[in-house]
Amino acid sequence: MSKTGAELRSAFLSYFERNGHKILPSASLVPGNDPTLLFTNAGMVQFKEVFLDLAATQWKRATTAQRCLRVSGKHNDLENVGYTARHHTLFEMLGNFSFGDYFKKDAIHFAWEFLTREIGLDGKRMTASVFREDDEAYDIWHKTMGLPASQIVRFDEKDNFWAMGPTGPCGPCSEIIYDQGEGTGCGRPGCAVGCDCDRFLEIWNLVFMQFNQDESGTKAPLPRPSIDTGMGLERLAAVVQGVPSNYDTDLFRPILSEISRLCGKRYGSGPELDAPMRVIADHARAVAFLIADGVMPSNEGRGYVLRRVMRRALRHGKKLGFEGPFLHKVAGSVVREFSPAYPELTNSASFIDTVAFQEERRFLETLDAGLRMVEDEFARMKGAGAGVFPGGAAFKLYDTYGFPVDLTADLCRERGVTLDAAGFEAEMEKQRAQSRVSWKGGEIGAHDPVASELARSGAGSVFVGYERQEADARIEALFLAGVRVASADRGEEVDVVTDQTPFYGESGGQVGDTGTISGDGFSLQVTDTRRPSPEIVIHRAKVVEGAVREGRIAHLSVDGGKRRVTQGNHTATHLLQAALRKVLGTHVKQAGSYVGPDKLRFDFSHFEGLSPEALASVEEAVNEAVFAARPVRWEQLPYEEAVAAGAMAFFGEKYADVVRMVTVEGVSKELCGGTHVRNTAEIGLFRLLSEGALAAGVRRIEAVTGLPAWRQLRQEAETLHGVARELKVGGAEVPERVRKLAAQIKTLEKALQEARRRSARDLVGEILAKAEERGGVRRVAAEVEPMDPAALRELADSVKGKLGSGLLLLGAREGERCHLVAGVTSDLTSKYSASEIVKKAAAAVGGGGGGRKDMAQAGGPAVEKLPDALATLSGW
Ligand SMILES: [Zn+2]
Ligand SMILES: [Zn+2]
Repeated sequence: MSKTGAELRSAFLSYFERNGHKILPSASLVPGNDPTLLFTNAGMVQFKEVFLDLAATQWKRATTAQRCLRVSGKHNDLENVGYTARHHTLFEMLGNFSFGDYFKKDAIHFAWEFLTREIGLDGKRMTASVFREDDEAYDIWHKTMGLPASQIVRFDEKDNFWAMGPTGPCGPCSEIIYDQGEGTGCGRPGCAVGCDCDRFLEIWNLVFMQFNQDESGTKAPLPRPSIDTGMGLERLAAVVQGVPSNYDTDLFRPILSEISRLCGKRYGSGPELDAPMRVIADHARAVAFLIADGVMPSNEGRGYVLRRVMRRALRHGKKLGFEGPFLHKVAGSVVREFSPAYPELTNSASFIDTVAFQEERRFLETLDAGLRMVEDEFARMKGAGAGVFPGGAAFKLYDTYGFPVDLTADLCRERGVTLDAAGFEAEMEKQRAQSRVSWKGGEIGAHDPVASELARSGAGSVFVGYERQEADARIEALFLAGVRVASADRGEEVDVVTDQTPFYGESGGQVGDTGTISGDGFSLQVTDTRRPSPEIVIHRAKVVEGAVREGRIAHLSVDGGKRRVTQGNHTATHLLQAALRKVLGTHVKQAGSYVGPDKLRFDFSHFEGLSPEALASVEEAVNEAVFAARPVRWEQLPYEEAVAAGAMAFFGEKYADVVRMVTVEGVSKELCGGTHVRNTAEIGLFRLLSEGALAAGVRRIEAVTGLPAWRQLRQEAETLHGVARELKVGGAEVPERVRKLAAQIKTLEKALQEARRRSARDLVGEILAKAEERGGVRRVAAEVEPMDPAALRELADSVKGKLGSGLLLLGAREGERCHLVAGVTSDLTSKYSASEIVKKAAAAVGGGGGGRKDMAQAGGPAVEKLPDALATLSGW
C-alpha cells in the first residue's frame, strides 16, 4: 500500500495511466496561456483552451500532478499559512481530465476505486456530496456504486457548482469527504459533513463540465461534456498517514528537520517555535518552485509575491534565532526532496540558491531597523491607548524598509492590533499618482491620442513587411499634433496611417522602420514607425514635397540598408539567447531587448557576471551559427503547437491563439513578431561589446553584427597596434612587454619609496639639529620645505619620535597658506599642551587650530609671519 507522498503521487498517475490517461508534466507556475492569471492555481489551468474548445489536444484523457500556488482569496490569506493545519502557498494538485470523453459515471468510479482499492482508504468513512439538483450523480453514487443514502449529501450552488468564469463552461461537482473520526473535530453537537472544522475533510473534487453559460445566464448543455478533478496531495498524504496536519506528512517533515538542524531547535516543542518553522517550510517550497519557474524577486506582479513570501519567512526566522541568511539552505532541501518528481528543480538548483541568497541578504540589511520601528510604533500606540496601527507607518515600513504590508499585518495580528489597511492603500495610491505624473510617457499606448482615435474608429492597417519592403497603399488618415486633418503641407510633420504597409512599427524591442512615402505630386520622409497595437501602424513623417491628402494612393518604400542590419541584429538576438542557454543553463530567459540598426541589446535572467571564458563561448556559439549559414523560417501556427514544438515563449507577454514562430534551423525556435534575415549567413559577423548587471538577477549584453562588427574588430586591432608601436614590439608581444613594464614600475616605485624614507630621515636629523635647551626642556622650532598638512604631521611624528623629550613646532608654506604642527612628548603633557602651543603660534599668522595635548595642528593666511609664529615656542 502506498504511504509516502511520492508513492501516492506516482500511484495516482499510474492508476490513471492504466485507465487510458496520458501522464502530462506539471505546467509552470507562470501560466503560459493566461495573462490575467497570476499563477497556475489548479490542474485544469494548462487545459483551459481545450475546455473552452479553442485548442485541440491529442489526448482525450490526461492526468497530472500539478504544482499550484495560491496567495490571495478568502481562504488563502498569506497570514494564515503556518498557523493552521492545511493552508499552504504552494501545493500539488492531483487531477484526471476527460476532454469530451468519459463523464460522471467513470469519473466517480475511478475516484472511488483509487481511494478504496489502490490506497486502501475505508469506504465507510467517506461521504459523497452532490449538487442539490444533480440526481444523475446521486444515482451513480447510490445505485451504481452502492453507497448508502446516509453517506450521500446534497449541497447547493455555493459548495457544489463550479464555473470557469461569468460565462463559459460550468457544471455541478461531487466532493469526496473523509471522516477523520470522533475526537478530531470541533466536537460541537451539530458537527457533521459540511462543518468547516477539521473532522470532515474534503479530499477530492470532481467537476462535471456539463453546460455552457452565456451572457444572459442561460445554461445550454455542452455537446461534449468534460471532467476536471482535483485532489490536494498534501491533504491526501495526511489522511493516509493518519497525521493531524499536512505538516506532519513526509512531504514536509524533511524540510522541517532541515530548519530544525539549521536553527538548533526542535520541531514539536510548542506553538511559539512550530508556527515559524511551518511558515518557513511552506514558504521555502514556494520559493524554490517560483524561482525554478523563472520568477525573480521584484516590486510588482509575480516577483512581488515571491518577495512577500520570502520576507515573511525571514521575519519568522528571527523568532527561531536566525541571524544571517538561511532560507536558501531550506530551499536547497526542497530541491533535494522534490527533484525526483520535478526535474526542473535539479537544473535550477544553483540558480535558486543564488537568487534566494541575494534576496535574503538584501532584506536582512534592513529587517532589524524595520522591526525596531514597528516596536517603537507599538510602544507609542500603547502610550496613547491606541488600537489601530497607522497606515502611514505601514507605508513607511514598506517604502523604507521593504516590509510588504502583509508582513506588517502579521506583526499586528500577533499583537492583537488592527492595521489601518485603508490608510496604507491611500498612501500607496498617492505614490502611484506621483509616479504617474513624473512619467511623461512616450507616444505609445494609452497616451497616444492617434492610436486611441484609430482604435475608436476601428481603422487599422495590414503589415506586409515580412516579405517585402515596398508596397502601394491608400492613405487612410493623417494627424497633425494628434489631431486628425484632411491634408498636410510641405514642411509639416504628420502621423500617417495607410491601409497596408511594409514599414515595421516599433514593437518587441525592434525599432521602427524609416523610408519614404510618395505619390502624385507629394513626397514624405518617414522618420519613425510605431505599432501601438497589432492592428495599428503609424508612420511619423515629414512632408518634403507638395501636399498630402487623405484618400490618396501612395508608394511606400522602406530604407532597405537600415532594415537589413536591423534584421541581422534581430536574428542575432535569437542566436544569442540560444547560446546563453547552452553555455549558462536553461534558467536564462529574455527580460527585454533592443534591436536597432546600430546594435543589439539583450537583457536576461542570470545572477552573476559572465567569466571571460563564458563570454568567449557565447560569442563563438553565435558565430558558429552565423558561419554555418543556417536557414531562418517563420510560420503562423496555433500557440499550443508552437509550445509543443519547443518554442521559447516570453513569459508575461500576451500571445494570441495563433502565433508567429521564428525558427533558426537546428538552433532556436522563438515566438516573435519581428523581421529576420532568411539565412544566418546574412548576419556576417557577431561581436560582443559589453556585458554587465542591469538589475538584481538581470544581466545586459550589447553586441554588433555585420559591417559594424567588422569595424569594431578593426578598431580593437588598431588600438592594439597603436600600443605595440608605442612599446616598439610586435602585436603578439604586447602582453609580455606590458607585464615586464609593470614589474619594472613596481621595482622603481620601491626604490623611490626607499629614497624618500632616507631623505625624510635626513630631514628629521636636520630639524633635530636645531633643538635648543632652556630650563631643562628641549625645544625644536623649524620651517620646512613646502608641503601639505598631512605630510607635515607625518614629519612632526618622526621628529617627535626621535626627540625623546621636548617641545616641537613645525611650519610649512603651501601657496597662500601656512600650516603649523605642534607636538609635546608624552612625559611633558602634564605641563605643556600642544593644543595651546599651536593656538598661540596660529594667532601670529592670523589663523586658528587645535588638537590633543600631545599633537595639534593649525593654519593661517599670513604666510610672511611664519617666522614669528615659530618664535612663539621659546615663550613656553
Ligand atoms: Zn465540526
Ligand atoms: Zn525576436
